[in-house]
Amino acid sequence: MLKLLILVFWLDLLGLSIGATGRSWVLHLHWEKDKPLVESGLAGHVHSHLSHHHRNVVPERLNGAEIRIGNSIKKDGTDNPLASVINSIPAGLARTINLKGFEGRYVTVVLPGKGRFLTLCEVEVYGYLAPNGENLALQGKASQSSLHSTGFAYNAIDGNRASVWAQGSCVHTALEFSPWWRLDLRKTYKIFTIKITNLKVAPTRLNGAEIRIGDSRNNNDDSNSRCAVISFIPGGFTKTFHCNGLEGRFISVVIPGRKQYLVFCEMEVYGSPLN
Ligand code: CA
Repeated sequence: MLKLLILVFWLDLLGLSIGATGRSWVLHLHWEKDKPLVESGLAGHVHSHLSHHHRNVVPERLNGAEIRIGNSIKKDGTDNPLASVINSIPAGLARTINLKGFEGRYVTVVLPGKGRFLTLCEVEVYGYLAPNGENLALQGKASQSSLHSTGFAYNAIDGNRASVWAQGSCVHTALEFSPWWRLDLRKTYKIFTIKITNLKVAPTRLNGAEIRIGDSRNNNDDSNSRCAVISFIPGGFTKTFHCNGLEGRFISVVIPGRKQYLVFCEMEVYGSPLN
């Protein structure tokens, strides 16, 4: 009879999903001294290297165990994508396994094969809420360095990509050196994707603009990280920028080092709140 010894960690805490597209999270496996096994009946205890009971130390039992992560509970989660394989973890020691880009509600450790014991003492999982498709910008507050006509800062987060000036949905600063526009998300997020829609006419004005993310309100220093430099967005088009989980409360668009109008029509932001 085929015996698959399976241990499933139901990470259904408050309905959290762990991981996100393009983001990283970290999973720790710990062997702890004299702590009962997670699943009883498999063996007695696993002792640490400090223990005198070395005869009971069987760290090799975990060799070849697969870590699977996903949202399915089909076959107790063993059909979910393979995140990593444990080669070996010495008795009494913990190993950190860095994973990137895995998203899921369930973490399953499975030891494939017949007649094997799965023994481990602690699993710690670190991750972030998966982005839920909500445009975070809609909940934010916008400001900008100066105002030209009716190009109010709010126009870039009004939920409307309309790119013709007369439609009243674009921001527009005065002609000035290093103009900026800033979004305050009101708390810090991990940012994965930003979409920017350019004005229909004179689209090259936005060339060279930088998208910066961080917790500093300053728009013209290096405190915040640079997600991207906008090379060119055709008039009326929306371009997506990937920020790989940069953390910050403020997102700014700055045209550094030259005198220009800062004009664009919409910013959309997708990310995860920090736990
Ligand atoms: Ca708009």
